Amino acid sequence: STGDIKILLLENVNKGAVDILTNQGYQVEFHKTSLPDDELIEKIKDVHAIGIRSKTKLTEKILKHAKNLVVIGCFCIGTNQVDLEYAAKIGVAVFNSPFSNSRSVAELVIAEIISLARQLGDRSIELHTGTWNKVSSKCWEVRGKTLGIIGYGHIGSQLSVLAEAMGMHVLYYDIITIMALGTAKQVSTLDELLNKSDFVTCHVPATPETKNLLSIPQFAAMKDGSYVINASRGTVVDIPALVQAIKLGKIAGAALDVYPNEPAKNGAGLYCDQLNPWTSELVSLPNVILTPHIGGSTEEAQRAIGVEVSHALLKYINEGSSIGAVNFPEVSLRALDLDQENTVRVLYIHKNVPGVLKTVNNILSDHNIEKQYSDSNGDIAYLIADICDVNQSDIKDIYDKLNATPYRISIRVLY
Ligand code: NAD
Repeated sequence: STGDIKILLLENVNKGAVDILTNQGYQVEFHKTSLPDDELIEKIKDVHAIGIRSKTKLTEKILKHAKNLVVIGCFCIGTNQVDLEYAAKIGVAVFNSPFSNSRSVAELVIAEIISLARQLGDRSIELHTGTWNKVSSKCWEVRGKTLGIIGYGHIGSQLSVLAEAMGMHVLYYDIITIMALGTAKQVSTLDELLNKSDFVTCHVPATPETKNLLSIPQFAAMKDGSYVINASRGTVVDIPALVQAIKLGKIAGAALDVYPNEPAKNGAGLYCDQLNPWTSELVSLPNVILTPHIGGSTEEAQRAIGVEVSHALLKYINEGSSIGAVNFPEVSLRALDLDQENTVRVLYIHKNVPGVLKTVNNILSDHNIEKQYSDSNGDIAYLIADICDVNQSDIKDIYDKLNATPYRISIRVLY
């Protein structure tokens, strides 16, 4: 029953999440910080779920002590802090929250478009340091200007709508064909976007194809006096090439929120080392807005992450739905009415090898399987089956037989 489910929440995850999970009737243990390894090992031994942010490292060394764990919720975007492969190997699904901060990023970019067009960053620094410098030369309204969006996903498309509301024209380039929102237009080549846009903003993932997506030839293809914005990933814009393009006056300003090598904690400056030899030049350029990866950093995004991840956890715990899991086959069946007598849902996580389904179907074949769905992801596979004519002894029998299969990683039976 839900009252038996134990959840350990670390690193001060959002209060909304704590409420949602507590209201489910789960036993929730909440800590404001991460825990030292020995304490974490002690606590992880008997919990069914754990919620963390980026500081808790769930390595194989820690996870191997988890005897009852079924699911990990990362209340953040990244999942590098978890050994995803090992977690899958022991049948533990991992969820995160990739899109709950899209709106926050889109709003930041809107702010940057106007800030660049009006040289706001420079005017503010000047007055903070004692200089009144009222200028209108090369300061523009954004109305009627063209925004070129590279990557029309969650953030790019949201930004498109906001930009049009300010009277901008929107062009976008994406590797897949995506329906345009409002009166935005998809262009078929990156060059076309670069040729026609007054502002170019990047919203693509970090992939080998997007490394230095904007470099010397791309800046050359842009309009004279145009602007560059990057709040995607630090590898996407070739910073030395950008520095050159700004020095030449080709690019009139830039806003960067992400860098190839970012400090791990607050208080440091931008690294100036062999990896980032451009730092001192970059910080001294006019009309360049530099922010410390704050695109998604808002109270609303934190709350949305809390809601999204805790919903994923409870859908997985209560129904077995793994939609959105990052290390697991994504499987879901319509919610089962567990009040209905004689009905169970079998959740069988197994090694992805030939012969499994034959064995499993043999075990289940005496019963009326109402629905069944399975999928695999690399070495592991996941099967959900709803069975609607079983009594207590059938349930035990099914459980024992599945448990004895050599392919089993883990089993749950919901009833
Ligand atoms: P998304 O997956 O929803 O959209 C990305 C889009 O880029 C997709 O439509 C995809 O088809 C397209 N794309 C992929 N490769 C491409 C290529 N080579 N050329 C053109 N288009 C390509 O992602 P999203 O949620 O919109 O996020 C976009 C980026 O923003 C990601 O890199 C993400 O990590 C980053 N991000 C940054 C912050 C921040 O704080 N600055 C916050 C959230 C997300």
